[in-house]
Amino acid sequence: MNTSLRFDNRFITELPGDPEEGSRIRQVRAALWSRVMPTPVAAPSVLAWSPECAALLGLNAADAEASWFADVFGGNRLLPGMQPYAANYGGHQFGNWAGQLGDGRAILLGETVNAQGERWELQLKGAGPTPYSRSADGRAVLRSSLREFLCSEAMHHLGVPTTRALSLVTTGEGVLRDMFYDGRARQEPGAIVCRVAPSFIRFGNFELPAARGEVELLQRLVDFTIARDFPQLAALPEKARRIAWFREVCERTAVMIAHWMRVGFVHGVMNTDNLSILGLTIDYGPYGWIDDFDPDWTPNTTDAGGRRYRFGHQARVAHWNLAQLANALLPLMQDAAPLEEALQHFVQCFFAADRANTTAKLGLRACETADESLMQALYGLLHAAETDMTIFFRALAGLDIEAPALAPFEAAFYDPAKRTTSEAPLLAWLQRYAARVREDALDPAERRTRMQAANPCYVPRNYLAQQAIDSAEAGDTSTLHTLMEVLRHPYTEQPGREAFAARRPEWARNRAGCSMLSCSS
Ligand code: AMP
Ligand code: MG
Repeated sequence: MNTSLRFDNRFITELPGDPEEGSRIRQVRAALWSRVMPTPVAAPSVLAWSPECAALLGLNAADAEASWFADVFGGNRLLPGMQPYAANYGGHQFGNWAGQLGDGRAILLGETVNAQGERWELQLKGAGPTPYSRSADGRAVLRSSLREFLCSEAMHHLGVPTTRALSLVTTGEGVLRDMFYDGRARQEPGAIVCRVAPSFIRFGNFELPAARGEVELLQRLVDFTIARDFPQLAALPEKARRIAWFREVCERTAVMIAHWMRVGFVHGVMNTDNLSILGLTIDYGPYGWIDDFDPDWTPNTTDAGGRRYRFGHQARVAHWNLAQLANALLPLMQDAAPLEEALQHFVQCFFAADRANTTAKLGLRACETADESLMQALYGLLHAAETDMTIFFRALAGLDIEAPALAPFEAAFYDPAKRTTSEAPLLAWLQRYAARVREDALDPAERRTRMQAANPCYVPRNYLAQQAIDSAEAGDTSTLHTLMEVLRHPYTEQPGREAFAARRPEWARNRAGCSMLSCSS
């Protein structure tokens, strides 16, 4: 074994830790992390790895194929410099303060610094119990691990800010799960994903010390986060620095949500412990992708009642979450006004990013006020006609502006009856759009290029991921590998790969894993 991975574990070196080691379940006060080792597994085996993510760490194919790789990223062995720990955080779950949560099954291995000087935290998810596991087992099943691995890298290729995934390792052990909480628990194959991000700090890391009145601890975490992860703000005076930082968190969160809306991603569990301080998409659980356009859709069966985390509600939820973070930061600020101003800044940033989405998705020079209503009208029609979001926008780039017709969109409709009733208003919209585009006088080739860069052809549709899971559970990883390859170039049409761009097949409409997912993972 000869890896180039070099570690510099600032989080645990500079911030207070729990004096107790090991996985005894406990409330951990006055500390931001607890030392705990991954629990070894029976037979770690690499099912898939990401060459792009490996390259960030200076690792290559020879490393990924070496036996140490499966051992290390399956939790059976440490590399020199790794110092495993679980982070202590709280969070608001579904609108309610939940107290201490923490990394219940994620274990950070350390911070590696690559040849370019970039810092990457490595984290195993599903590596066994920690002090924060509460009543759960610290493990993860293959289906949810594969979904997280696949989507993290797909989001990166789509240009959406995200945590990354280095590897998907099966453990050779079974994990007991009751997928729909209906008393039908079964043993499922276990797996571990190695996640990679500059920082895994979440809103909830700040909320917990604030809720406990541990103001000095909170302040140390804020100062550390700014110093390590927002170095461009370091030179500002203390008060201005903290305000500028919170403003930047608001900005990054707005940009991330606008990307989700652009590509049709529904996170599914936007609790404050699942929002990254860096504005990265984090914690891929019961997430989903919009097939037929529906702002009220959520993939998460656990959220089916209130649908708090539905597609069209994500910006509002992000704002609510930022308000909880602002509340947590209040003890460090002399007054609330700058925090309120930053929350307002979030709204402006989101609307600006959303207008940029409209400009790009419709292939316009700029978004005029009337274009916002043009887009809203389209969303209403796509919903009413049960239209595939991805296929529709991709086809819109190919519309004949001189003779708008429905023909290019036929593959996008899920319900022939709804298509028929929506035909006249859809045609009227296409004519309105064509007139708008003609008046814009953007070169047609340029317009098409811009639209194709904003509207993906391939996204990790829920049923595609499920097919990869079904095959992988049966011992065949070729479906996953082909899907990973397609998703590497989501904006480029790939001859022979048309099936991956097709609308969801009918069998998948109401199938578990394809349209309905629970938090059981
Ligand atoms: P989530 O909503 O999935 O991000 O998880 C919420 C909390 O539950 C976090 O503290 C997780 O670490 C914890 N958790 C979820 N699943 C497990 C598990 N299988 N074992 C231990 N902790 C878990
Ligand atoms: Mg989480």
